[in-house]
Amino acid sequence: MKQAFNAAEILRENIRNLSPYSSARDEYSSSTGIFLDANENSLGTPGAALYNRYPDPAQKEVKKRIGELLKCREEHIFLGNGSDEAIDLLIRAFCEPGRDSILIMPPTYGMYAVAANVNNVGVREVPLTPEFQIDAAAVLASAQDSKLLFLCSPNNPSGNLLDRNSIIELLNRFSGLVILDEAYIDFTGDAGFLSELNTYPNLVILRTFSKAWGMASLRLGMAFASPDIISVLNRIKYPYNVNGVTQRIALDVLNNEILMTRQVDLLIRERDRLSRELRRYDFVQMVFPSDANFLLVRVEDADSLYEFLLQNQIIVRNRSRQLHCENCLRITIGSEYDNQALLDILDGF
Ligand SMILES: *Cc1c(COP(=O)(O)O)cnc(C)c1O
Repeated sequence: MKQAFNAAEILRENIRNLSPYSSARDEYSSSTGIFLDANENSLGTPGAALYNRYPDPAQKEVKKRIGELLKCREEHIFLGNGSDEAIDLLIRAFCEPGRDSILIMPPTYGMYAVAANVNNVGVREVPLTPEFQIDAAAVLASAQDSKLLFLCSPNNPSGNLLDRNSIIELLNRFSGLVILDEAYIDFTGDAGFLSELNTYPNLVILRTFSKAWGMASLRLGMAFASPDIISVLNRIKYPYNVNGVTQRIALDVLNNEILMTRQVDLLIRERDRLSRELRRYDFVQMVFPSDANFLLVRVEDADSLYEFLLQNQIIVRNRSRQLHCENCLRITIGSEYDNQALLDILDGF
């Protein structure tokens, strides 16, 4: 149990004192009545289905369903326009531009540093070990006054889960918020840290509908944290940050969890097959173990393999220039057809 953490103490002062915008739909949220309060077009949407009304700014139905599925109360849930929105809002809420910093552990997801840079917030880097694990002592030695610590588990681009005890050590000893990005958690047998929210008041978990849930185009991300932290995010977000189409389709998709699980099972089987098959090529030096829907693969000459695949219209990510990723390509697990096409092309390299 983490002692004495009060998010308000590390919040930016202007955010602590902010009065948020109150939308028409905040003031009256029932769905029955004659709505003359939001300057919508009451006649409908010309030539399309009905999109003329503003969506629910609090996304109550979607949160209720997520809460049921993940056994989590709605006050612990924030929904955003992708988890990228939550990353940006957390930085804007807690980090004073030109003064504060976040801490990241390369190689990792690029958006943490980009969002910090956009906000003129500093970025401290403490590398993961060459095995892509946390060096907790190094992190704590250099965390000093950083406000936010970003962890990604399973990590992008390496694909592995981070060691649970190291995460717990950072939760216990870091003085700011620990943001744990679990975008790929559905591809592991690991339950992640959702059940630990009440133990660690400084924990924020990010999840997304863009990967296992197959909704990348619709932009829907989740953050889970204490009600204090969630209410800060809700106060500073755009009022209608998650559009109505996305909310409706998210409800449909959430009611098809069984199909999602079936797709995930297939992707995991394909991941294991692709991993085995890739090891057979003499130009493949290492296929890193993966808990995600992609493989990090070290080859003899990543640049030339990348170009060769591109010429054959197979697009992968060249991660060679990231720390500890020399000559590494990151390959998303595709459909059975996609993966076979990749292997067939590799036969000719
Ligand atoms: C893909 C990904 C996300 C998802 O971002 P969205 O904005 O929700 O699409 C978040 N974190 C990591 C590490 C990712 O790889």
